[in-house]
Formats: sequence, structure tokens, C-alpha cells
Amino acid sequence: KDEQRTISGQTKAILAEAKLGLKKSLGQNFLTDRHIIERIVSAIPLTEQSGVIEIGPGIGALTERLVKQAGSVVGIELDRRLLPVLHQLFATNENISFIHGDALKVDYHQLIHDYLSECKDVHVIANLPYYITSPLIIHLLEGGYPFQNIVIMIQKEVAERLMAQPHTKAYGSLTLFAQYYATVERVTHVSRNVFVPRPQVDSMVVKLTLRNVPPVQTSDQTLLFQIIRAAFQQRRKTLQNALHAQFQSQATKDQLHSWLQTSGIDGKRRGETLTLAEFAHIAKVFAEELR
Ligand code: SAM
Repeated sequence: KDEQRTISGQTKAILAEAKLGLKKSLGQNFLTDRHIIERIVSAIPLTEQSGVIEIGPGIGALTERLVKQAGSVVGIELDRRLLPVLHQLFATNENISFIHGDALKVDYHQLIHDYLSECKDVHVIANLPYYITSPLIIHLLEGGYPFQNIVIMIQKEVAERLMAQPHTKAYGSLTLFAQYYATVERVTHVSRNVFVPRPQVDSMVVKLTLRNVPPVQTSDQTLLFQIIRAAFQQRRKTLQNALHAQFQSQATKDQLHSWLQTSGIDGKRRGETLTLAEFAHIAKVFAEELR
């Protein structure tokens, strides 16, 4: 590969100089392809008034581009050993701060208040170990944070779940959860060959654009997600049976049957055939009946 395109030499040099052994447990695979970095960063329309929260900056492959384009950047890095390296790399940049912390535990309202209160729009960029992908997406979406976009690098299979259509294997509660809070678009496929060290799987970058208003109305969001999770927990069961397993202490089978009829949904269907709007119809009737 031509030198212009890749920064793997630079990445290795930084790591060697800092004498850092990489932590596999923290998913430390660093991006080294300028084109991919460019595509990820340009997925967000950044201006001088934008704030970016970068989760897991590592040794700054994406950060380097972000500081040039955004007004302010905050990097949250869990590996304490990387903070002096990051501080040194970005010593001359005034628009970046680094925080040592766990992205799953950060209070983003506080973070925005402390570091990005002047920004007009706030975005998140994350390239993280895959085992925290789903919890992180849930944490970021559920928190009610004023993010405009979340651009996240994830395992291909999770990306497929986020963008799945009904009647497919990938369609599930994560699909509907994401759909409730955001629209999801594919940004780019990322080959395992553009990382140092090389991971075991290929990745996908997706962009979640947060909605101002949910696409369905519900008086009880918790109940809506409880119904959705129940419907997919036992995917092979009919909706009627799956919901019975969840709500048996609150309703008889006959009652559930008639509630489903009232919602206009055939209880013999399987969860994977229902749209978010149909789940919302069910939640509406259940909310009234369970009151
Ligand atoms: N963004 C860099 C890049 O693209 O080259 C690094 C990506 S590397 C896959 C993931 C980074 O996230 C590592 O630097 C790791 O230490 C950090 N990390 C892992 N778990 C984290 C967590 N819970 N919160 C914040 N950072 C985390």
C-alpha cells in the first residue's frame, strides 16, 4: 500500500516509543488507513461550532482529523497509559480535552456542560471493543442526550441487526430500539486489514441520527420495550405465547388473546414479522388494560 494512504508506520512508532504493550481486553486495534478515517469523520457535517465526543481515542488516529474540523473535541479513554501519549500528541491543539473514564459510566449531560456548552451541535464518534457495542448504543440512546449523530464502528453482524427489516434473522429488539430513537445509515465497510494489530473480524461504520420525536406514540415506553423484548426472547413462539410467558402473572391467555385482537394484531404471528408501529399498537392497548 502506498505510504500516503497508510499511517501504520506512524502508529507502530508511537506505540514503540511509548513502550506500550497493547491490551487485547480493551479491544486495542488502531486504525491506520487515511481513506477510512476520512470517510468516518466526514460522515458528520462538522463546523467550527460543532462539539465531538470521541470514545476510545486510542493513539489519536481519528482525533487528529477531528481537531482540525470541529470546534471542540473531548476524548474519553479507559486505558490510563494512553493519556500521556495523547496529551503529548495533541500538546499544540487547544480545542481538545482528554478524560480518563469508562464510556459506559460517563454522564454525558455533565460532560457537555463542562466541555461543550458553547457548541451548537454535539456528535459522538466511537471505535470500541465489540463487547461493549450494544450496551454503549443503549446507554447513548436511552440517556436523552442532545447528540445529533452517533457514528460508531461495530461488528458487521451488529450493523446488520441495527439496519434489519422485518422477516429477517437479524431483525430484533436492538433493531426496534435503535429505530425508536434514531435513523440508521451505513457509512462504510472496514476491512480487518486496516488495523494494527489486525483483528479477527471485519467491521462496519454506521451513523445514527437521533430523532427529535419518536416515530410512534406511546404512553409507556418501558412497557413498549418490555413487549418487544418478550416477543424476541423466544423467537420461534407465536406472539401470543411469547407475550403470555412475559405477562402471565398479569393476564390470562384469553385476556391476552382479546387484547391482541383489540390492537388489530393476529396473535399467531411471530414477533419478527411486526413493525415498530404494530408493537406500539399492542403497547397502547396493554397500557390501558394493565392500568
Ligand atoms: N479510535 C482509535 C482508532 O480508531 O485507532 C482506537 C480504537 S481501539 C479499537 C478502542 C479504544 O477504546 C482503545 O484505545 C481502548 O483502550 C478504548 N476503550 C476500551 N474500552 C473503553 C471504555 N469502556 N471507555 C472508553 N474507552 C475504552
